[in-house]
Amino acid sequence: MSISIPFHKPHITDAEIDAVAAVMRSGWLTMGPKTVEFEESFRMRIGAGHAVAVSSATAALHLALVSAGIGEGDEVIVPAMTFAASAEVIRYQGAVVVMADVERDTHLLDAERLDEKITPRTRAVMPVHYGGLPCDMDRIMEIARRRGLVVVEDAAHSLPAEYRGRQVGTIGDITCFSFYATKTLAVGEGGMITTEKGDWAERLRSLRLHGIGKDAWKRYSAEGSWAYDVLEIGYKYNMTDLSAAIGIEQLKKLDWMNERRAAVAAAYDAAFAGADALIPYGRREGRSSAWHLYPLRLNLEALSIDRARFITELKERGVGASVHFIPLYRFTHYSEMGYRAADYPASEWVFDREVSLPIYPGMEDLEVGGVIEAVLNIVHAYRR
Ligand SMILES: *Cc1c(COP(=O)(O)O)cnc(C)c1O
Repeated sequence: MSISIPFHKPHITDAEIDAVAAVMRSGWLTMGPKTVEFEESFRMRIGAGHAVAVSSATAALHLALVSAGIGEGDEVIVPAMTFAASAEVIRYQGAVVVMADVERDTHLLDAERLDEKITPRTRAVMPVHYGGLPCDMDRIMEIARRRGLVVVEDAAHSLPAEYRGRQVGTIGDITCFSFYATKTLAVGEGGMITTEKGDWAERLRSLRLHGIGKDAWKRYSAEGSWAYDVLEIGYKYNMTDLSAAIGIEQLKKLDWMNERRAAVAAAYDAAFAGADALIPYGRREGRSSAWHLYPLRLNLEALSIDRARFITELKERGVGASVHFIPLYRFTHYSEMGYRAADYPASEWVFDREVSLPIYPGMEDLEVGGVIEAVLNIVHAYRR
């Protein structure tokens, strides 16, 4: 049987398509009433004090660092095992990227070793909830409070996720979500910032649109006026109502989509439990995952092929897969700055072994079965 299972497929139905069509017919395409509605629905769903919609999680992370007052020469700690965006925004501010190693079993920032990374110049820490599983936030918040650091959460993977009964988006000083095409709430390009700090939220609303004062987007509406003021240098980071309309529909089925993802993960867990060529991904008591990723880990000692070949074999069997992540220090830009793989043994260990399998809400049982069959078939064919 020839199958073809993509690595990812967004769950788009007529609801999203009709919502976008309605915005197009309304004559108001960019940030406007739909963005305000999406922010309010999102804020309610998370239970956050404030929610500010932006053009991407990268924009969200950048503005979060601006809000936190991060500047030239400040140090910000990020896990080495994350997407390029988490670190590049630190460089936008002229600050220093301090990479921390991760826990082998969860690929999350190793909170037990966070203290070692803190210097008198450290101003912030950016926990990344890898794959959707929340970091050890109690420990991270305790260290951050004790050492005077701002906590900026990269929650690009973790909508929705819970940490000890609290929603991700209500824990750190400021939290950034992604609505990129492959994320758990997908609008194409978009992001959201949540915070409990009213003054930060107000400034974020201005910073995302050229630093213009209150409700800048209304200036072309009937109730708006031509007059506006620029309070400080801002950015062009606003969301559009086209994206917000998709977001509103996606948010309505967020819990259902999360259940579907969790069911796929549970099916994989059960199928791979007995395979000694595979290493189970870590779990943590009291934390629920958004299941953005299903990270498979290869026991290289039991296999005659490496991770790259494993992915090629999956592809030949019609299964799309990916790797999360290529650690930051492996990129030319960072290695030229002197970051060395030898300083991050756990990240290296994960990088050699990780394969992200397809996981998405619309995945059919037949597709889940197809992925399982392909993985077990490869494991059997190449056992050492
Ligand atoms: C996707 C991603 C981002 C960036 O999200 P965008 O919305 O594409 O800007 C940031 N951090 C992590 C960990 C991501 O996976």
